Amino acid sequence: MINKIKPNIWQFIFREFGSCVYLIKINNQNILVDTGSSDNKHELLSDLKELNIKPEQIGMVLLTHNHWDHEGNISLFRNARVYGNKKDFKDKKITDIYKLKIKEIKIIDTPGHTPGSISLLYQDVLFSGDTLFHNGIGRTDFPESSHKDMIKSLEELRGIDYKILLPGHT
Ligand SMILES: [Zn+2]
Repeated sequence: MINKIKPNIWQFIFREFGSCVYLIKINNQNILVDTGSSDNKHELLSDLKELNIKPEQIGMVLLTHNHWDHEGNISLFRNARVYGNKKDFKDKKITDIYKLKIKEIKIIDTPGHTPGSISLLYQDVLFSGDTLFHNGIGRTDFPESSHKDMIKSLEELRGIDYKILLPGHT
């Protein structure tokens, strides 16, 4: 299912379990925030097709953290540079998210759910991954999680001026 959030932001929600995927168009560049799980592959491709976007036309993928239900489809986007926090991603193919050069997007360190979880602020929109949801917060019972860090991250997000919350799961 496609929800248009803003003239240049779309949300994809899938029937099969996986994360929400977001498309942001900035200066004719197609940017994805997360990619869902591999179970979402066909739905994601058909949603993009509905918007007239071929997988090759995705130039960047920004990953909020390293969980299978968020990074499951990165291989579909052959022309995309994939960014993530090196605290989560040791793979050399993942570019350090702090090297992202899109001045409109601010990266916020929000560890807790995973050590390398990040949130992204674009205009008045906060992409919160699995840190903050509309009705709660992300799990901190994984071996790599830290409840203490999560509390600090939530406090950090509370200080941010945003109007629209776009979380990793609805
Ligand atoms: Zn997660």
